Amino acid sequence: MPKGEENFISVYLIVDEKITLIETGPSSSNASLVNGIRKIGIELEDIDFIVPTHIHLDHFGGGGHIVEMCPNSVAVLHPKAVKHVSEIDEWWTGSRDFLGEVADLYGKPKPIPPDRVISADEGFVLNLGTSKLQSLHTPGHAPHHITWIYDGEAFVGDSAGLWYPELNVSFPVTPGYYRHDLALDSIDKMLALQFKYLHYTHFGPRLAEGALEQIKFEFEIWINIIENGYRNNLSTIDMLNILFKQRDGLKRTHQKHGIHQAKTHLGSVEGMLNWVTRKDAQSR
Ligand SMILES: [Zn+2]
Repeated sequence: MPKGEENFISVYLIVDEKITLIETGPSSSNASLVNGIRKIGIELEDIDFIVPTHIHLDHFGGGGHIVEMCPNSVAVLHPKAVKHVSEIDEWWTGSRDFLGEVADLYGKPKPIPPDRVISADEGFVLNLGTSKLQSLHTPGHAPHHITWIYDGEAFVGDSAGLWYPELNVSFPVTPGYYRHDLALDSIDKMLALQFKYLHYTHFGPRLAEGALEQIKFEFEIWINIIENGYRNNLSTIDMLNILFKQRDGLKRTHQKHGIHQAKTHLGSVEGMLNWVTRKDAQSR
């Protein structure tokens, strides 16, 4: 709950011989995270692995603080993210450029000493005792995005859109620099693994049956609307309004978004437009 905002960021704990925290949220939610962990009877000293899906501030902005508070933990990250969590300048400047004042609401990350960071290549396995967690690189939303696989279940971060359980639907989410081709490849990669559950960060678990097909379909519809809008010189606001008209429930999710997510859907339209524009420039 960054600044008290509920039903926005899910974090997960896997309790085996080793204890693993999936996602940390931003630094402004550290206090509620620590409270939650203690409430279920786990001490910070007991946590072994801190495992984000990617390092966007809403997922891991508080990672450095939590690693520091959990003295026996190491963070496990995509090779492309490893440097940024130890030398945070680029990470923080990039986040502020994209998120504006929301970055300040999330709070500045703390650097993590390099000897407390493990790099997770594709297929990397973390042994937790009787179970294991395996890395599946799922770029698109971010080049350093990992979906973590745990016994037929997947912690999907932002690689499968945003999940709105009350509407039983997911909608795409993209940052300013987005790779649509890789995002679809990643969804296909996940589809092939036939998961039982998808554990979203935004927000909560979802039965996997039909879910990845649904979000893939939604990504394709959105990119079509944005390609049309691009050809007809529409503004991103106009494109968003078309999406609101055509996609059931989308407007409702927009109205319900709190301060951190107020511009989420507009941001996704901008990210997709940026992709369409780049692709068009390449084809000329
Ligand atoms: Zn996110």
